[in-house]
Amino acid sequence: MHGTHLIAVLFMFLAVSFEAQQTSVRPSSQSGTVLSAKARPAWMASSISKMEPELAAKYGDPQKTRVQQGLRQVSEFWRAEDGDAATFEEFVRTNFAGDQAMLDTMFNRYQRLLEQLDGHMHEINREFRQQQDLDAGPVLSFDEIFAGYDPSAHVIDDFFANKLAFVVLLNFPLTTLQQRLHDGPNWSRRQWAEVRLAQRFDKRIPADVNLAIAQAGADADAYIAQYNIWMHHLLNDQGQHLFPPKMRLLSHWNLRDEIKSDYADSQDGLAKQHMIQQVMERIVTQTIPQSVIDNPQLDWNPYTNEVRPAAVKDSDQGGKTQSASNTREPDTRYAKLLGTFLASRKADPYSPTAPTLIARRFDEDREIPEPRVQAMLEQVVSSPLVAQTAKLIQSRLGRPLEPFDIWYNGFRPGSKYSEAELDAIVAKKYPTAEAYQKDIPNLLMKLGFSPQRAEYVASNIVVDPARGSGHAMGAEMRSEKAHLRTRVEKKGMNYKGFNIAVHEMGHNVEQTFSLNDVDYTLLKGVPNTAFTEALAFVFQGRDLELLGLPAPDEKAEAEKTLNDFWGTYEISGVALVDMGVWHWMYDHPQATPAQLNHATVQIAKDIWNRYYAPVFGKKDVVLLAVYSHMIDSFLYLPDYPIGHMIAFQIEQQMNKAGSIGPEFERMAKMGRVTPDLWMEHATGKPVGPEALLEATKRALTALTAMQPDAAAGSD
Ligand SMILES: [Zn+2]
Repeated sequence: MHGTHLIAVLFMFLAVSFEAQQTSVRPSSQSGTVLSAKARPAWMASSISKMEPELAAKYGDPQKTRVQQGLRQVSEFWRAEDGDAATFEEFVRTNFAGDQAMLDTMFNRYQRLLEQLDGHMHEINREFRQQQDLDAGPVLSFDEIFAGYDPSAHVIDDFFANKLAFVVLLNFPLTTLQQRLHDGPNWSRRQWAEVRLAQRFDKRIPADVNLAIAQAGADADAYIAQYNIWMHHLLNDQGQHLFPPKMRLLSHWNLRDEIKSDYADSQDGLAKQHMIQQVMERIVTQTIPQSVIDNPQLDWNPYTNEVRPAAVKDSDQGGKTQSASNTREPDTRYAKLLGTFLASRKADPYSPTAPTLIARRFDEDREIPEPRVQAMLEQVVSSPLVAQTAKLIQSRLGRPLEPFDIWYNGFRPGSKYSEAELDAIVAKKYPTAEAYQKDIPNLLMKLGFSPQRAEYVASNIVVDPARGSGHAMGAEMRSEKAHLRTRVEKKGMNYKGFNIAVHEMGHNVEQTFSLNDVDYTLLKGVPNTAFTEALAFVFQGRDLELLGLPAPDEKAEAEKTLNDFWGTYEISGVALVDMGVWHWMYDHPQATPAQLNHATVQIAKDIWNRYYAPVFGKKDVVLLAVYSHMIDSFLYLPDYPIGHMIAFQIEQQMNKAGSIGPEFERMAKMGRVTPDLWMEHATGKPVGPEALLEATKRALTALTAMQPDAAAGSD
């Protein structure tokens, strides 16, 4: 994963989280009646009792269940403005597909036309973003407006207004996650395609609700985006500045990354890390002075909380001329989070099967029930492998662990080649983007694709010079190609660029198979972004071999595995806090920001005390609540640990299969079914942490054998 792509993924996620045009689950009949009672026109019940026998008589008993289901589904979304009783009855009479031939025709036509719709909308988006995405000269103000415009934003509203959505709801089944998990494995591929077709129209959220959600999200984003700490202005008790002038770090990303890079500073590293932890804790508890946020004009001792005018000027940033007050930030962090909660709640009545944001995240976006996700996360954080890994870290650091060591970054694969040597090899091979494009079939054959398949996939990928570090943009219809955006410097591609290009190529190959070779385009894609990331990592992890260099050795592999395991341990706790906080908000919808602050701190401490304190030997730490995503990303954090687990499952299967090419194609052609069904098909097991834990165990054994003094694994 890398910056630009991460941002793209997060952006896509946020776009989804605003639920403007979410494709998800159906209203259950049970709570659906609550919604219907509110919105359903008074004549609806009698129209249904009239039409049900009429259609059953016309098409025969075998269609009776479909008739009942279709009428119920349409009635749940029909509003007064859609027409009166006569309009409803005529609509139903005209559009019910009462025999298989008519249903087939309808299915095929919707499939073809929705592919065209998605494909062309995406094509417009891609063109409109071109100036911003490609290395093609200055981005002008109107280019940004083009890039931000989404021509498909109102498609769902339009399809309800012109009744194309109602035709689908009348004829194809809405399903619950429970049904998809329980019955899905026995459905035919066509049934799965019908289920995904219906899911496109399983919600009709009023525009003002979508707008409120988007505004709360944007408001929280803006708060997070300016939450900088001016590091040179942090003073310790001796009045020393530990950090260099001009250093401005965005919470929490840059603060966390600074903790990581401070491991390399043998002189002040530890003191710096302590200080950053102190700053993070003050952000979480909101005891940070309001005046020091993004303000280079004040010096601040985060231990005593003393604030005074800056002794040195290291920035031209003016504006903030607050007096040197240490009045605390007034729970703004939690007011923003509460804002996203209150806005999300407005969509609840229009989403009866998933009547909370929590349910929409787990049942619809992830399609893994929350209790299972919780169990998987707990399996990681309570694994005995944590203590063994901690012991290894402790021996490498030569000191007892500190809470900020959840961000330990000392597991390094290492390489026989220096970055400069690799840069030279890559620049010679790929002086231009075209050179990389030409080499794609060759690269794919090295990964085990047959010459024909390699040519076929390569012919569906267009390489463009990226403005940023690179990203992959798949097509949405078969007549379009996937785009690989890669960074090529004037002196040619460098190793970092190549590493990213290989990752993005993995995305493009997945995108090609899962669109062009899936049996139904309604099933195009993968269950969620974690799957395409995992497939991209399979490619990226073999980048040295693609350069004709030796594969990473056993030690390098083991280091990489432990790095991933430790990261998963850390982010699993963060995800558990995120989940706990959203439940608390739903349990206390009237809460004030101050109460939410108190609750969040308590939840973070509880999770820490249960799963981290035994390892770190310190209680009541609040660091797990520092992630900015918690404030502005609508319960996104559980995606990260699940992503790690999925990556290990897929990697394990690739190793088992030996050759990547055919296995990759077999997996990617499965399309967008539930994560568990996809994973069963790919690896024989549902989604879970076992592959990660098994690899970690092997890595610990291997590293302990190489470094016996670490004594990892003993007692
Ligand atoms: Zn990626």
